[in-house]
Amino acid sequence: MPDYGIGSWPWRQARIRPHKVAFTQPGHALSYVRLAERVERLAAALLARRIRRGHRVAYLGFNDIAALEVFFAAARIGAIFVPLNTRLTGSELSVLLQDSTPSLLFHDSGHHQLAQEASHGLVWLVGPDEREAMTAEPSPELVDTDVGLGDDAVILYTSGTTGVPKGAVLTHGNLTFNTMNQLAHVDVLSTDTALVVAPLFHAAGLGQVTLPTLFKGGTLAVSPRFQAAQALTDIAERHITSFAAVPTILKMMCDHPAFPTADLSSLRYVIYGGSPASQDVARAWQQRGVTLLQGYGMTEASPGVTLAVLGDAAMAKPVSPGVPHFFTDVHQRPCEAGGAPELLVSGLNVFRGYWKRPADTAAAMEGRWLRTGDAVTFDKDGWATVAGRIKDVIISGGENIYPAEVEARLDALPDVRESAVVGVPDERWGEVGLAYVVPASGAAPTVEGLRQELSGQLAPYKLPRYVRVVDHLPRNATGKIMRKALRDRHPDRLPARS
Ligand code: ATP
Ligand code: MG
Repeated sequence: MPDYGIGSWPWRQARIRPHKVAFTQPGHALSYVRLAERVERLAAALLARRIRRGHRVAYLGFNDIAALEVFFAAARIGAIFVPLNTRLTGSELSVLLQDSTPSLLFHDSGHHQLAQEASHGLVWLVGPDEREAMTAEPSPELVDTDVGLGDDAVILYTSGTTGVPKGAVLTHGNLTFNTMNQLAHVDVLSTDTALVVAPLFHAAGLGQVTLPTLFKGGTLAVSPRFQAAQALTDIAERHITSFAAVPTILKMMCDHPAFPTADLSSLRYVIYGGSPASQDVARAWQQRGVTLLQGYGMTEASPGVTLAVLGDAAMAKPVSPGVPHFFTDVHQRPCEAGGAPELLVSGLNVFRGYWKRPADTAAAMEGRWLRTGDAVTFDKDGWATVAGRIKDVIISGGENIYPAEVEARLDALPDVRESAVVGVPDERWGEVGLAYVVPASGAAPTVEGLRQELSGQLAPYKLPRYVRVVDHLPRNATGKIMRKALRDRHPDRLPARS
């Protein structure tokens, strides 16, 4: 059977647009035909080192053309690509290496020491020079490698927001259909230049915008690591038409002093998701004339479940993550306590299971349905609202409080920079809300003041009972608030009752 895997994309695109630029990086540009040659040679070099179908090939480094070449080369021979999070510590990474047991660990020049620390000499490390040498090796031409849509393509670790990161195994078919899904919502063009700014070790960095742009023969402008000022300069200088982001990236960009005057005229759309977006951030980008398309998804869904649709509706509903994807089905399971229902998802982009975690897989799947653990509702037009994770719901006197709703109201107050609301035990109500608040500069918010300001906007039972002012909120590497860490703080450190 011919190779229909993701690893065949470079040579397939090289047949259509050989001299079109596939990747750019400062001081470097690579056409599709050159990319295809390099990927074919690196794939052959992997085979020569006895890497076979199903073996794992890990990568530790910032976003780089090299990371994508290793991904395509591994995929070409049916090996499984394991991109690792550069923000993890050596010991955290070593847990992931013991879990995925890769045969090779590629790393960039800045991560040699971390790779050594994490691998304890047990994994064969490949630095930039050796990788380049492998890519230059004269190699026999690859024949059909027989990689199909059902083969495993990547192990992507979840963000670990609710526990330890779990390795989601995504097949070539999962990634391909996530690409098709996105193309049904967004007109990606061969003339697009997408900025790869979200880390490639997360599903959003790899699956959203990156693969759809390559499928359409567009150009990827690879940016090593996110910096707000650099991203704004890149958009103007590299004539960026699109990029994928998480809300923290969008917030850092619109908070930057250069934002109001930055040249954003080339941007056609920005896809973002992963955690709730604030109205203020969405408004700031809209005011600059940029179309934001919010998506909702998860690593297990490669990652898109719903996405806004490019057009007027996206401008009218900027904080909704849109409608379910083309090849993705959704089902709402009513909540016994009468709150928002849990969303179940099935489709060609939904994974089969976690790497070496049968118990977690069994808990996550019900037949073909993936339990998202998220409460999601849909309006009359079918546009979604993510109320939040069911585990985060605070049940106070029998009423459900969704932290995301309270946080959105708090964050819009002038005294508040950002907030996180968690439930704490209460003798009378079962649970009440405790808001961790990072104040706006110079502000000194109090529980009475904040409750007063929110009282016209939220039902009384939703008002936080306690407020604790903090310097910053604990966030994981994807920028998500680590609610568990906040909940686990000892109750006897609670602030005095209001
Ligand atoms: P872990 O599964 O390890 O606990 P995680 O769920 O945060 O971590 P990801 O797969 O990166 O790992 O994130 C998926 C989750 O992010 C979803 O289940 C949902 O709770 C949240 N999420 C994604 N998109 C949105 C969005 N647009 N709005 C609100 N929440 C979102
Ligand atoms: Mg999850």
